[in-house]
Amino acid sequence: MADKRDYYEVLGIPRTASIDEIKKAYRELARKYHPDVTKEEKGQAEERFKELSEAYEVLADADKRKLYDQYGHAGMQGQFSGGGFDWKDFTHAGDIRDIFGDSGGFGFDGNLFDMLFGMGGRGSRGPHQGQSLRFDIEITLDEAAKGGKREIAIPRTVKCESCSGTGAKDGKISTCPTCGGKGQVQNVQQRGSSRFVSVSACPRCRGAGTLAEQRCQKCGGRATALKTSKISIDIPKGIDTGMRLRFQGAGDDSPNGGPPGDLFIVVHVKEHELFKRDGSDLWMDWPIAFQDAALGAEVEVPTLDGKAILNVPSGTQDDAVLRMRGNGLPHLDARGRGDQFVRIKIKVPKKLSAEQKALLKKFGELDGSKKGILDKFKGA
Ligand SMILES: [Zn+2]
Ligand SMILES: [Zn+2]
Repeated sequence: MADKRDYYEVLGIPRTASIDEIKKAYRELARKYHPDVTKEEKGQAEERFKELSEAYEVLADADKRKLYDQYGHAGMQGQFSGGGFDWKDFTHAGDIRDIFGDSGGFGFDGNLFDMLFGMGGRGSRGPHQGQSLRFDIEITLDEAAKGGKREIAIPRTVKCESCSGTGAKDGKISTCPTCGGKGQVQNVQQRGSSRFVSVSACPRCRGAGTLAEQRCQKCGGRATALKTSKISIDIPKGIDTGMRLRFQGAGDDSPNGGPPGDLFIVVHVKEHELFKRDGSDLWMDWPIAFQDAALGAEVEVPTLDGKAILNVPSGTQDDAVLRMRGNGLPHLDARGRGDQFVRIKIKVPKKLSAEQKALLKKFGELDGSKKGILDKFKGA
């Protein structure tokens, strides 16, 4: 007994700790010795966990705590069934049940650790992560270019607040009488001279080892509720269709004490009536007057940042592509922006005034290029 550690020290809390602080400390430490995460060896983890649970058993109980505060470990004599603390003395399984899961197997005997640590890993009995959720949003090209904030409402499954996720009215749970809290029942079959013993999850408590004394009325015993959570998202500049934003832990709560799932926001960028996107570049067709193409001109064109002047060099041909550097979308993972490519569409006037016709005829007479082409074909 001399080397027995002080309960407050075991839980790492001051002697003045409130019941909430005690609970919190225990939950945190209990989680640390979870089979999925513990780095300690099985035996050590088991011992540590038992030590923690003993400290918690005493300090979470006002009467026992008073005794302990006055008399130390000596005051605990007679508090536990045997010579000292054993798992069957542990009455607070409900407080950490959600950590280890409904089927974490709170048999208050040595089996607890066979279940918790022996089976270990991500077996079906262990707590599992809550469901991850997917939510699709549609944004405009403008939003994709400039980024922005969006608030979205996500319906998710959360722990029932009324019963703190226990499914039991007022959180009151008791040991399952069918399995005695083990969460498992043994089935013995005699075949000839052989006995076959198989173990299966207790049908009454479905492996939890505990039962609700009364069902939580709010959730009907399911221990979960549906809640719409508002999530504020930052749309990163340059985001493109199909990209996912991950929000760790914003998915459904775990039904049995595992971590919550994640939320994935899948982005769809709406088609723009003018711009076609190619990565961080933009493409667009833009009509210009044939005389502007021939003579060269400064033409006003739309960009994501408003109107801009495009220099059309003289002699620009139909379908020529002119580049406006830096007028595309921001690169998602690099500095700077893509480019805007303008494909020139030369407009041929359908209606001409008499004066325009006369001028064009005159232009035709002066244009030698047509003749040259004809000669070329004649020669062929
Ligand atoms: Zn409930
Ligand atoms: Zn049971």
